[in-house]
Amino acid sequence: MKLILLGPPGAGKGTQAKRLYDRHKLVQLSTGDMLRAEVASGSALGQQAKKVMEAGQLMPDDIIISMIANRIEAADCHGGFVLDGFPRTEGQAKALDKMLGEKGGKIDAVIELAVDEGALVERISGRYACAKCGAGYHDTFQRPKKDGICDVCGSTEFVRRKDDNAETVKARLVSYREQTAPILPYYRAKGLLHQVDGMADLDDVTTAIDAVLAKVRT
Ligand code: AMP
Repeated sequence: MKLILLGPPGAGKGTQAKRLYDRHKLVQLSTGDMLRAEVASGSALGQQAKKVMEAGQLMPDDIIISMIANRIEAADCHGGFVLDGFPRTEGQAKALDKMLGEKGGKIDAVIELAVDEGALVERISGRYACAKCGAGYHDTFQRPKKDGICDVCGSTEFVRRKDDNAETVKARLVSYREQTAPILPYYRAKGLLHQVDGMADLDDVTTAIDAVLAKVRT
């Protein structure tokens, strides 16, 4: 099963991608996580990505496309994967079809997490993650069971993304509206697009995504 999660920043793509791994062993392929790893490593690519990400802009298509092309070759992806944050432009969407098509594969479904833009800034500015295992939390919507302790691994260290501030979020929303939302009709025309209400409770979103998977599998 090869899935794409589409939606603006803060729609819940990362959270739902992690749940898709837990429930269906679909590997989460997050281009944002790959770029953050480059930034942390201090590589030349990481230095370029840091500037672009802090400005809320998009990295060039060719760089992102070759990153994904390499990643989906890895053995852990053979059982299926979920793309989180890719494709983000029409060029990326077409390149993805081409790279999968060359190996006789294709995307099985594209799930759009539809959200009310007004809620996104609050959602994004409250979010943080465990520094050790990456489990996601939110100041208002999803606090750890015990304050300051990760539910999953017990770590007491947490991190917030640098680009989750109000100014960068606004730029990221503009990038989404202008460059990413226009690919929705591309997938709709192929009959692959399924819309899920991303404003619902986390568990209800997961249930709705599972229902899409069940439909696609039959
Ligand atoms: P994300 O974690 O998906 O919100 O991505 C964080 C940032 O990484 C984005 O705001 C972009 O600057 C960059 N980025 C992630 N994925 C892509 C992509 N597919 N194309 C271009 N830039 C990306």
